[in-house]
Amino acid sequence: MVVEARDRIGGKVWTKYLDDGTPIDLGGTFLGPTQDRIYALLKELDLEITPTPIHGDSQLVYKGKYYRYADDAPDVDSQSLAGVWQTLKKLSKMSLEVPSQEPWSSPKAKEWDAISLGQFLNDPLLNLNEPTLALLRLLFISLFTVEPSEISLLYVLFQIAASGNDIELQMKVDGGADQDMLKGGMIKVAKRMREKIDAEQSNTLDSWLLLSSPVSAIAQDAVGVTVFSELAMIKAKRVVVAVPPNLASEIRYEPALPATRMELLKKMPAGRCIKFITVYDRPFWREMGMSGEVTVLDDYIQLVLDTSPPDRSVGVLMSFAFSNEAKELAELPDQERYTHVITTVTKNFGPKAAKPIYYFEHDWYQDKWTRGCHVAHLAPGVMTSYGQAIRESFARIHWATSESSPLWNGNIDGAIRAGEFVANELLAAAI
Ligand SMILES: Cc1cc2nc3c(=O)[nH]c(=O)nc-3n(C[C@H](O)[C@H](O)[C@H](O)COP(=O)(O)OP(=O)(O)OC[C@H]3O[C@@H](n4cnc5c(N)ncnc54)[C@H](O)[C@@H]3O)c2cc1C
Repeated sequence: MVVEARDRIGGKVWTKYLDDGTPIDLGGTFLGPTQDRIYALLKELDLEITPTPIHGDSQLVYKGKYYRYADDAPDVDSQSLAGVWQTLKKLSKMSLEVPSQEPWSSPKAKEWDAISLGQFLNDPLLNLNEPTLALLRLLFISLFTVEPSEISLLYVLFQIAASGNDIELQMKVDGGADQDMLKGGMIKVAKRMREKIDAEQSNTLDSWLLLSSPVSAIAQDAVGVTVFSELAMIKAKRVVVAVPPNLASEIRYEPALPATRMELLKKMPAGRCIKFITVYDRPFWREMGMSGEVTVLDDYIQLVLDTSPPDRSVGVLMSFAFSNEAKELAELPDQERYTHVITTVTKNFGPKAAKPIYYFEHDWYQDKWTRGCHVAHLAPGVMTSYGQAIRESFARIHWATSESSPLWNGNIDGAIRAGEFVANELLAAAI
């Protein structure tokens, strides 16, 4: 039985549709090389991918100045860019010393967990100048949605190790984690799985899926578990808690969870990200030779990508605000926030961007059943003090969210890996 708080399946994967059926992904969207488990699942479910469109020049905006570039790098001063690449390479190299299965066991775990990413970047020995630090901040908040001062260096190195020891892979479209999208929207994965299970269970009277039924308590004894949810009380042999760690900490457990597990759950908050979608009658920016990709260092809307459907029936720009900027935008009245978004896309792409035919926004931090995105993060000291508990079951209670995956942690691929891990654990326990 699956007991879900929301009135829909998918969690942080959520697709809405335009009147003509064009999918709009408001949550997890992109996939890329080495995310083998999601690609394998797409094959099994007979679903098709489409490359993220990126044809033409991208733009970087820094101190109000626009740098348009065709290749990998904008033409800001070469010293600053060199500082960025060298720092990313250094971090990727350091991540080789962090085993992604057990990051807390790295010989340098204590040293690296004692400081934040921000302290590392601001070390005078690295001698990074202001534009380099501003660029690095943006790259990191787009991945972790919190300030570099809020996350442990060890946690960041673990995240790099978990995506193949190359942080650039996490940040790129072509050849990176944003390379592909799912035709028809990412929610098709969950929908197709639901259809398959429905077909397999068609002879049973009870539904296997209970929606709109938040779980508030889980009790266990020597023979089984009892799950208390809004609409039902369910008795089972075992339970898998597959809800974000900060929300899992609010479920009541009887008997109480071991202290290390509970502390870990409480110390895994997620950051802030608002996604904005503006839809136009066509991807008009391509007519100006632009890819749609814009990185903005000093505005509220910090990243824009073209996510138009392959048939170009409409033009779709996906924009993001992360961390402090997302927090500040969230506090504005709706109309003012809308004005900010439209002003930024208009500055980026000209007056045609001023009048979208559709507009969507979603603040994942304020979403009751997610409360932060894209992934829970760890402050200094947490990984080495509590990290070992991340996949440890507590008798009949097991854990599975993307945060417990040693690979592609915090991504859709990681969520599937976490599911596979716990399925094997249950099989081994022979229920
Ligand atoms: C804006 C955004 C963009 C992203 N972009 C990407 C991307 O491009 N590529 C990528 O790979 N990943 C991306 N991600 C991350 C990816 O979506 C997640 O890693 C993945 O979906 C997590 O799946 P999960 O099953 O671990 O958790 P979730 O999807 O959070 O599922 C947890 C489920 O638990 C339910 N729940 C919560 N509390 C309770 C309760 N008390 N009782 C019952 N049910 C409860 C929730 O409703 C939810 O359905 C993005 C995420 C966001 C928010």
